[in-house]
Formats: sequence, C-alpha cells, structure tokens
Amino acid sequence: MDAFTLVVVSALASVVMAASMALLYRAAPHQTCLRDWAITGVCFTCNSVLAAFAFRFHLASFPVPGIANALYVAGHFGVLAGLRRHLGLAPGWPLLAVVVPLVLGLHALPALQGSVAHRLLVFTPLIVAINVSVGLSLRGRIRRDEWPTYLPLVAMECIFMLQQSMRTVYLVASENHTLTFMGSQFLQTSGSLFLLLFMSVVPMSCALIVAHRQAQDLRRASLTDALTGWLNRRALQDTADAAFDRCRRDLSGLFFITFDIDHFKSINDRHGHGVGDAAIRHVTDCAGDVLRGHDTLFRIGGEEFAVLLAGQRLHDVRVIAERLRERIAVTPLRTEGLVVPMTVSVGVAAYGHQDRDWEAVLRRADEALYRAKTHGRNRVDVCNREIAASIGT
Ligand code: GH3
Ligand code: MG
Ligand code: MG
Repeated sequence: MDAFTLVVVSALASVVMAASMALLYRAAPHQTCLRDWAITGVCFTCNSVLAAFAFRFHLASFPVPGIANALYVAGHFGVLAGLRRHLGLAPGWPLLAVVVPLVLGLHALPALQGSVAHRLLVFTPLIVAINVSVGLSLRGRIRRDEWPTYLPLVAMECIFMLQQSMRTVYLVASENHTLTFMGSQFLQTSGSLFLLLFMSVVPMSCALIVAHRQAQDLRRASLTDALTGWLNRRALQDTADAAFDRCRRDLSGLFFITFDIDHFKSINDRHGHGVGDAAIRHVTDCAGDVLRGHDTLFRIGGEEFAVLLAGQRLHDVRVIAERLRERIAVTPLRTEGLVVPMTVSVGVAAYGHQDRDWEAVLRRADEALYRAKTHGRNRVDVCNREIAASIGT
C-alpha cells in the first residue's frame, strides 16, 4: 500500500472512531466521556484529511504542518481527557487553549519551518510531557482489579509516545534535516500505520471502558433499594454469605438486628403513600445515624429492615438495637407540615455453632421481632436461645 493510500485509510478509520463514539454517546448520554472521545475522533479525522490534502497537493509550508500537529496533539489530549472525566476528574480541555497556540506558534519559527527534524525535536517532548502529566494525574484512580479494562487505552497512549520518540530519534539520526512536511516515505508509512492501529484499538478500548462502567452501574442498581438508597434483599444474600463464611472461619460473632415499623398501614391510610414513603426513608436515616460505618443496613421488605453486624458481643448489639429503637421513637417524621410519631419493633439474634447458614440467624431475629410486636411494640426482643447463651456477656 503506498503512503497516500495509507493516509486515506487512516482518515477513514478516524471517521469510524468519531462516528462510533458519537453513536455510543447518543445511546448512553450519561457517559459523557464518550463526547470527549467523539471530539478526539473529529480531531484525528481533520488531521488525517489535512494530511491527505497536503500529501496530494504538496502543501508543506506554514501553517499547514502547524495545524496538522495541533490537531494531532488535541486528539491525543482528548483520549486522556475522556479517561479523566470517566474517572471523576475535570477533563482539562481548557489546557488546549494554551497548548494549541503554543504548537502553532512554534511552527511559525523560521528555524522550525524548514525542518521536520527540528519540529519533532520541539514537538515530541511537548506532547510526551502533556501525556505523562495527564497520565500521572490518573494515579491511584484505577483500582487494581480494574486495570485489565483500562490497559488497552493506556497502552495505546504509551505506544504512541514511544513511536513518536522513535520517529524523532530516527529523523535526527538520519541527519536528513532538509526533509519537509511529509518527511521520508518510511516516516510517512510508519506514522500512518501507527495511526491506523491506534484508530482501530482506541474505539474498542473506549467501548470496553464504558461497557464495564455500565455493567457496574447495573449491578449497583440491582443491589440498591431505590427508595432509601440502602442495600436490598439481593445484596443481603451476597454480603451475608461472605460474612457467614468469615464468621465460621475466624470464630467471630455474627448478628442480625431486624426491625419493622409499627402500625405502618395506618400511616399510609391516614396520610397517603407519599408520606408513607417519607416515613420509610426517615426510619433508614435514623438507623444510619445510629449504626457504625461497617454495620450494613438492608431493606428486606416493604417496611422491614435488617442490620448485619460482625465481630461484636451480644451485649453491644443489644445496646445498638435499643439505641436504634429509641432514636426512632424520639424523632417523629416532619414532612408536608405534619408531625408523624413513629416507633419500630426490633428483634436480635446471634450466630450459634449449630447454625448451618445465616438464614437461620435471620429467622430467629424475625421470631424475636414478632415477639416484640405481640408484647406491645416499640421494644427490643432478643432470641431466647441467645439470652440463655449470653449469660454473663
Ligand atoms: P405492624 O405494627 O404489625 O407491623 O403493622 P403494620 O401496619 O406495619 O403492618 P405491616 O407490617 O403488615 O404493613 C405493611 C404495609 O406496608 C403494607 C403495605 O401497604 C405497606 N408498604 C409496603 N411497602 C411500601 C412502600 O414502599 N411504600 C409505602 N408507602 N407503603 C409500603
Ligand atoms: Mg409494620
Ligand atoms: Mg411489615
């Protein structure tokens, strides 16, 4: 394939990148990094189209090389800007307001206008510096187990810097300082082949990153209760399985506190479902204030909740359960000009060596909860067996 055909093929690959990122962005507009990557595709497309024209019509003088290189820098900057946005940082596009005029200005210098080697000597350290500094800003943002998702994109940017540095070294070493914009056939061919590889791998890498995030979001949503933002029953399964295994292995404690809003139907009936929903949120807010960071609250039914606690003594768990009951009892819900007093009934149970699974512990906590209901509500009841076993704790 001759050099001109390669430039045209690179331009087509850039168009495919711009179009695929734009279409993905339309399908998932909340993934705003796709917009950055679509802009990246546009920058590379303009760069490749300009290169094709320059090649065909021998446009080697200023400002054509300057514009082409500015677009090239902007394209690579866009790849990292999208990654920064994806990882929760500001993308940093305003930096281009400095970098692009700088690149154009450097190309206007007479010393650089006639020599590709001189241009690359100035230009390569600049883009390597930008890439390295943006790359360093991502340090610690990617979790170790997520690296396989990000590696193709990061690797492509590293390969880009390597090939850019090698081109510079080759050109300087060849002492062919009289080369003009397009350089030698070898340089042109290797540059176009690299751009082709880059344009094929980068869109796939970006799509992989977005698909991974979508899968994470979906999983998080499937484990989260939409009304309260706490975890749901499905999440309880995973969390309690792991906690139960740990508890059996380390012979540490595992406890459940379950609670249910008293006479909740009457809140719904009297004030409507909106206030009922606010009451559910209010109870979980109160519980969140009372619980420690590593005690996990789950909404396991309409107005039924469970707290999973590990590594504690039954006495302390009883204290937490009592604090929870009291906090809700003394904190009425205030909403829509109403003051709605609320109480909960609470059950507590602890893991015992005879328990084959955590569901057995949860069942006992539920039994204690319903005893609390039958004994008058707004009280904490502990499973009888735990009381017998915990004498002295
Ligand atoms: P008890 O003291 O015995 O617990 O009486 P209760 O009235 O609270 O009875 P129960 O626990 O059976 O009440 C469950 C009610 O909760 C029935 C249902 O209409 C209501 N509910 C379940 N989920 C929701 C929800 O998401 N929002 C609202 N507003 N109500 C819900
Ligand atoms: Mg209830
Ligand atoms: Mg209930």
